[in-house]
Amino acid sequence: MKSSARVVVIGGGVVGVSALFHLTELGWTDVVLVERRELTAGSTWHAAGGMHTLNGDPNVAKLQQYTVGLYREIEQRSGQNCSVHMPGGLMLAGDRERMDWLRMAQARGRYLGMDMEIISAAEAKRMFPLLEEQYFIGALFDRAEGHVDPTGVTRAYAGCARQAGAEIYQHTWVSDLRQRPDSTWDVITESGEIHAEHIVNAGGLWAREVGRMIGLELPVLAMEHMYLITEDMDEVAEYNAATGHELPMGLDFDGELYIRQEGGGMLLGTYEQACVPWSPRETPWTFDQQLLVPDLDRLAPSLEIAFKHYPALADVGIKKVINGPFTFAPDGNPLVGPVPGVRNCWVACAVMAGLSQGGGVGLTLARWMADGDPGEDIWAMDVARFGNWASLAYTNAKVRESYRRRFRITFPNEELPAGRALHTTPVYDRLTAHNAVWGASFGLEHPLWFQRPGEEPREDVTFRRSNAYHVVAEECTTVRERVGLTECSNFAKYRVTGPGSAGWLQRLFTNRLPQTGRINLTAALDPNGHIVGEFSVARVGTDDFFLFGSQIAEAHHSRWFLGHLADGVRFDVLGLSLVGLSLAGPGARDVLQSVTDASLATENYPFMTFRRIDVGMIPAYVGRMTYTGDLGYEIWVAPEYQRALFDLLWQAGKSYGIGLFGFRALMSLRMEKMFGTWAREYRPIYTPVEARMHRALKLDHDFIGRAAAEAELSRGPARTLGYFDITPDPTEPADVVGDEPIWQGGAVVGWATSGAYAHYSRRSLAFGYVPSELAVPGAMFEVEIIGQRRPARLLPEPVLDPAGHRMRA
Ligand SMILES: Cc1cc2nc3c(=O)[nH]c(=O)nc-3n(C[C@H](O)[C@H](O)[C@H](O)COP(=O)(O)OP(=O)(O)OC[C@H]3O[C@@H](n4cnc5c(N)ncnc54)[C@H](O)[C@@H]3O)c2cc1C
Repeated sequence: MKSSARVVVIGGGVVGVSALFHLTELGWTDVVLVERRELTAGSTWHAAGGMHTLNGDPNVAKLQQYTVGLYREIEQRSGQNCSVHMPGGLMLAGDRERMDWLRMAQARGRYLGMDMEIISAAEAKRMFPLLEEQYFIGALFDRAEGHVDPTGVTRAYAGCARQAGAEIYQHTWVSDLRQRPDSTWDVITESGEIHAEHIVNAGGLWAREVGRMIGLELPVLAMEHMYLITEDMDEVAEYNAATGHELPMGLDFDGELYIRQEGGGMLLGTYEQACVPWSPRETPWTFDQQLLVPDLDRLAPSLEIAFKHYPALADVGIKKVINGPFTFAPDGNPLVGPVPGVRNCWVACAVMAGLSQGGGVGLTLARWMADGDPGEDIWAMDVARFGNWASLAYTNAKVRESYRRRFRITFPNEELPAGRALHTTPVYDRLTAHNAVWGASFGLEHPLWFQRPGEEPREDVTFRRSNAYHVVAEECTTVRERVGLTECSNFAKYRVTGPGSAGWLQRLFTNRLPQTGRINLTAALDPNGHIVGEFSVARVGTDDFFLFGSQIAEAHHSRWFLGHLADGVRFDVLGLSLVGLSLAGPGARDVLQSVTDASLATENYPFMTFRRIDVGMIPAYVGRMTYTGDLGYEIWVAPEYQRALFDLLWQAGKSYGIGLFGFRALMSLRMEKMFGTWAREYRPIYTPVEARMHRALKLDHDFIGRAAAEAELSRGPARTLGYFDITPDPTEPADVVGDEPIWQGGAVVGWATSGAYAHYSRRSLAFGYVPSELAVPGAMFEVEIIGQRRPARLLPEPVLDPAGHRMRA
């Protein structure tokens, strides 16, 4: 065994070997993998081997597509048979909502280059004669679905990696991990120690325990999962004889089951509602290629549906039942990337569909390690999407929810109930008393809208417009015509202090730093010129700054800042030690002025001022800006003052017609002001030039990514963020949500990033990326919304107050 290596990958399941293989592909050959038993000894050996490209997140879908396409290549290069079967797959819809969802999935697939086809129930029956047509209304057929032999795949990755120089040590348990002061690692195994620059936790069923070796509590939990294999069936033999090929795979959403041919019989798996976590607190190291005791009672409700939907199954014997554990993160997507706060420590775990996702996970992890950039949009898989609020018990609640909902639709306006309300601000009860409908983001509750008094604070979930529509319209009017009050604690807030802070930030930010007492907007880039983040920067002293950014990116951004930290500079994540309320609308100044001695007249407190003033008796930092694009103030206080601040503003606002507004109204208001948002318009795959962040891009100073930005500015961006006025279907109006394809001239030319109905301007608006040469003001496009191509005109400027008079008034 080597005593040192550049990388030690811990875990020889399908994910660990994929990471090892992809590292060698990028030229990192001094890499080893350590496996406590034999390759595949965790979840991998008993997986059903099914693979598909469908995923709720299009970027994960794209990586699944990459994975599926990789098997023939590694098979050929390693000489190891992977038993690749590609019969295609049917996703079967039993109702209209599911059909809508499939249409949207098909549409998303278009801009990812996926070739999927909507077919009728009769056509599905012809392709899959075992099904009972009356229970379905249609299906989506995907050619890129099939199944593989998980052990063959694992060996093939391992074979390719070995050919390139990687070494694999089996029967070598990693019992401890110790980091040296220079951030390298001593990997302690039962056969000796390996000194490594980087470690990768691909421990699968034991990823949590491997994390605990270094004091990490990763949000990952194993669930029991069962599938059964029937005896050979005459129907299957007849189909094979008649067609010359095997049956396609089936995903039956109503039955919450998957079904495919296995030999001469059928394999059927379910995501049962009576699901059971496995080893919820700790995975025993003694667990060793074992199966769990099957419990057919748990499957009974799904089997009942299966026998109705596929009657031939009712008459055939069950040959085998497999019950095995595999892991999930709270939202069902993998955990990948550098662990926030721990240098040279990477994870590739919680991969619940290793045969569909393992290749993409390995590819992006290896690129991230080798190039400092995953090379793809992996926001949905980034380990930093969870904070330390994702405790063991939270993870348990969310994973069970996620497992049960595996085949359920999550609507764009749906807020899932598990793990709520965990994280609240002091005004939570006040806002609840005002009938707030709550959502959660990065664990924190935030008000979505305020239901009318006496009505139930609940939103109907839908792809179209919900019961919130008219109430949100009123909230928008309150802001635009009088004054609105909302909570703005759901920003990530950071404080940067200490000598050299200004120089350090200036080197990270694309915009010049503001003067003391001022705020501005800026971006941070990676060396390739991609957007790492966008922030409001408020300066309160020479070397004293507040930064405000997207809350869901708090761990992602703080990982990046801390990874670049300079000596003497202090970077603090403020979390809920700073909370906020925001006043917006033409009456905002009058309300605030009535409770402060500081003069808020524009000549004394112009737009983009940020100062420490007293509001009533409350010490506050007040920034004159709001995301509504109206006259407004964000008022930041310590949490112990937030309730008093709320009462003060609410009381003071009464004579000005104050009303509450929530996140839904904010999204509508920002849309008519053409303000982009993180994770939609601004993501790590876009550049500030593409995203039209020119005002925040100043080439008069040096910053990370400057050379790339400058080069792009001079050659012009290949794609450009467009702003569209949509004409929705008049009979059943639906607005853009995000990820819809944008068409022009009969071809898909781009994709939408977000959209909303702008109530005050009475227009359905959207953002989306299109090739720059097509981004001509007035140009006509179509956006495909729930299967319908709707006219979309590219607008040159915000539909409301393009000159920005309202916020400067
Ligand atoms: C019944 C069932 C059916 C499934 N069907 C499918 C399917 O059809 N399609 C699909 O895509 N997925 C399926 N899965 C899921 C799939 O099995 C997992 O996604 C996949 O196996 C995860 O691989 P992994 O490498 O992350 O983890 P694992 O396979 O668990 O591998 C982790 C490895 O790390 C090793 N290890 C851990 N700690 C240490 C240590 N300290 N030192 C050394 N080695 C260590 C373990 O021994 C193990 O071999 C199924 C799972 C089950 C249970």
